[in-house]
Amino acid sequence: MRIGILGSGQLGRMLALAGHPLGHSFSFFDSSANSATAGLGECTVASFEDIAALTRFARECDVITYEFENVPCSAAEVLSTIKPVFPPARALEVSQDRLVEKEFLQGLGIGTPRFRSASSESELREACEALGLPCIAKTRRFGYDGKGQARIDDLADVSRVWKALQGAPLLVEGFVPFSRELSVIATRDQGGQVCWYPLSQNEHIEGILHRSELPAPDVTHTMRKTAYELISKVLEELQYVGTLAIELFEVRGEVLANEMAPRVHNSGHATIDCVASSQFENHIRAITGMSLGAAEPHSRAVMLNVVGRLPDLDEVRALSNARVHLYGKEPRPGRKLGHITLLNPSKAEEDMVHGLTSRR
Ligand code: AMP
Repeated sequence: MRIGILGSGQLGRMLALAGHPLGHSFSFFDSSANSATAGLGECTVASFEDIAALTRFARECDVITYEFENVPCSAAEVLSTIKPVFPPARALEVSQDRLVEKEFLQGLGIGTPRFRSASSESELREACEALGLPCIAKTRRFGYDGKGQARIDDLADVSRVWKALQGAPLLVEGFVPFSRELSVIATRDQGGQVCWYPLSQNEHIEGILHRSELPAPDVTHTMRKTAYELISKVLEELQYVGTLAIELFEVRGEVLANEMAPRVHNSGHATIDCVASSQFENHIRAITGMSLGAAEPHSRAVMLNVVGRLPDLDEVRALSNARVHLYGKEPRPGRKLGHITLLNPSKAEEDMVHGLTSRR
């Protein structure tokens, strides 16, 4: 099949790298050219509002998917009148607005941080009073990697935060004193079968994911069951097809849902190397109507992101248990350039790779 991908970054790259061996070819559509998918398929460079370009793109594909959630819903709707689009447009709608997303999760009985909406400075103050301080104010739309959000420790900060977030409509959350951040990833196929990947434990530097360990250590049976049940509810409610990720907070041995990504996710990159069918392969299998492959890990894996600058990786390549994945992108501060997966690493091996990748 020819698979169309909206977006042409590293997630598109890894989807194509998983799909080529299954016999598929790829076309990308993006608003600007991206070197990450060069050589893996033609890329149409046009606006996501350009209906003629979207229509031409849809005609050359058999099925369409996306690799980032800020694709305008209108584009997904235009495309879905011509060819199947997975995951469904409603998954985009829900995840593009943090308030809609939290209400959706709450409506399914899924535990989330306590939240309020705020559309004015006085509503922001009222939300902080109702939730209790500290609070986190987040813009409802277009926030990522910790951008578009601010912590409020004192009511005297309200005015400053309201201005810093430029008067955008906000979701305000009570601060969760979490012990760690986890994520759960699962794929649902067109017949409704679901496979779940092990939970991963995630650590960030300056708001950008730095390290994921998979399977996350010390996950209790109850936590795993809660995480699998909550993601299954979301998959079922949306009649989802493809891979979905939900970021979680662990607090006092329980898990709360923070946010969902209707796509393959950075915290699941280790599945390329530690699982028979990675999150990318199962996404491709799902959207092309195949059954899913096995998602149980054969090794413990630690994934470290390469962000901003490209260190000398000769020492890493020399490790027999290291897998280096570079995305072919020009170094730029804050930019994800690649990741390294270490299989069953020793502490010394992990420390060495951490030393190389934590300076950005
Ligand atoms: P988000 O964009 O919602 O993923 O938030 C980015 C990061 O901010 C998360 O990975 C957490 O480290 C932190 N964070 C977000 N929401 C909360 C919250 N309600 N309480 C505590 N920390 C939070």
